[in-house]
Amino acid sequence: MLDSADSIFDRLVNAAPPTAARAAFNTACVLGGSIAGLLAAQVLSDYTERVVIIERDEMGGPHCSRPGTPHAEQFHGLLPWTERWLKGFTDDVLNKGATISGTETTLTVMDGQRQALSHREYEIVCATRSLFESCARTSVLRLPNVS
Ligand SMILES: Cc1cc2nc3c(=O)[nH]c(=O)nc-3n(C[C@H](O)[C@H](O)[C@H](O)COP(=O)(O)OP(=O)(O)OC[C@H]3O[C@@H](n4cnc5c(N)ncnc54)[C@H](O)[C@@H]3O)c2cc1C
Repeated sequence: MLDSADSIFDRLVNAAPPTAARAAFNTACVLGGSIAGLLAAQVLSDYTERVVIIERDEMGGPHCSRPGTPHAEQFHGLLPWTERWLKGFTDDVLNKGATISGTETTLTVMDGQRQALSHREYEIVCATRSLFESCARTSVLRLPNVS
């Protein structure tokens, strides 16, 4: 029987890094060093001896636009689960200018019309995408087996 979308979502939300993992592969190669690539590298680092991320853009600092991510300076909101994989990520982005949008302070308006609240039970960390990416990159590249 197929899992419902809700149960798949619950499983993803409750996923956590392994307490004890062993390297099942020698080298894993991740194509693209953006948010998804960085998080993939973080997860793979528990299961491989070495992770190599291949990215075609030159990487800059927290406010750097680059061709591969033209949306880098757009406002983004992240649900709080990144912290589970990248310890210290939330404090790091908050110290660099991100804000937390709590359930009491969030108002979504589209074309002047107030929208129904979503993600009510979660606080959302808000910043530009380039800031998120820069902090995630710093955290992931600290792992000794990721380059
Ligand atoms: C205006 C806007 C607002 C958004 N707001 C939100 C939000 O609030 N919250 C949210 O969660 N998401 C938001 N998103 C979506 C979010 O930005 C994307 O889901 C996210 O950027 C996808 O990340 P990614 O790492 O999968 O891919 P991308 O960010 O597209 O990264 C792909 C990477 O691969 C690299 N690459 C591509 N081709 C190659 C190649 N051949 N060789 C090597 N490297 C390569 C690129 O340079 C890039 O670094 C928003 C998107 C937009 C456009």
